[in-house]
Amino acid sequence: MVLRLVHQLEDAKEAVGLDAPETEAKYWKAAQSELGTAIGLIQQGFDFLLKAQICEVSPYLLISRNPADWPKKCDKEDIEFAEFRTIDSQDFVKVLDTVSPTRFDPEFVTLFDDLRKRRNRIMHTIDPAFEANVKDILTTLLLGVEYLIGPRQWVRLRKENLEREVDLGYDGDPVSFVQVHDFSTVVDLLDPAVLLRCFGFDRKRRRYHCPSCCHVDDNVEMDVMTALLQPNTPISPNVYCFICTQDQIVERIDCNSSGCMGNVYSPDWDMCLTCKQSRA
Ligand SMILES: [Zn+2]
Ligand SMILES: [Zn+2]
Repeated sequence: MVLRLVHQLEDAKEAVGLDAPETEAKYWKAAQSELGTAIGLIQQGFDFLLKAQICEVSPYLLISRNPADWPKKCDKEDIEFAEFRTIDSQDFVKVLDTVSPTRFDPEFVTLFDDLRKRRNRIMHTIDPAFEANVKDILTTLLLGVEYLIGPRQWVRLRKENLEREVDLGYDGDPVSFVQVHDFSTVVDLLDPAVLLRCFGFDRKRRRYHCPSCCHVDDNVEMDVMTALLQPNTPISPNVYCFICTQDQIVERIDCNSSGCMGNVYSPDWDMCLTCKQSRA
């Protein structure tokens, strides 16, 4: 959802040369309600994951209030769980930190708290000073997933999610196309530290075109520079891309295109991974 807004802005910039900072600021102002919805959905997702962790210990930990306030006759007949008042989102971390063998990292506690506050600010107040932005939203989502699901799971989860969506309206291989389009946008949007932590992608290193991602859709010219030498040595015979999670064998020979200083060549794709030209 939030990346679609970024793509839309990029398309507009390309199509009509819309690049004045005031116009971009106006665009993001108009997108606040969609960004607010995204923040709400992320919080809802984190809530579900935290509730699931509480239920692993005991679902009864979710029941709030004194027994005197529980639904009438709940001790005389079976009552639906949904009839009971449950604890608030703000107490989930406290409950888990009390009953689990390990406590949450303070970074997650702050992140979740900030997310709840941002969500409440959007839902319950009209605050002109508050402006949501895509980078913060994605960073919160990715770091939260690191804690609640596990390290570097997002590429896999996003792919599984896309596979569930039936009609994306793209030709060819829609799941891969959308995934490549989305993640190549993310690479330029997020802080290097977040990229390294959540995708293992080191933006400080020399980047090469990933031949597989560049050719994901025959109808669209893609410049996807997400391949890194693996291992990172001057004679490395391999590049790896975190988006398609593929390794590609490379030969270290100088490119014969004029002006290209590249020396990383993919024999399988007949492609210089610096300038994309074939050797033929
Ligand atoms: Zn790739
Ligand atoms: Zn080249």
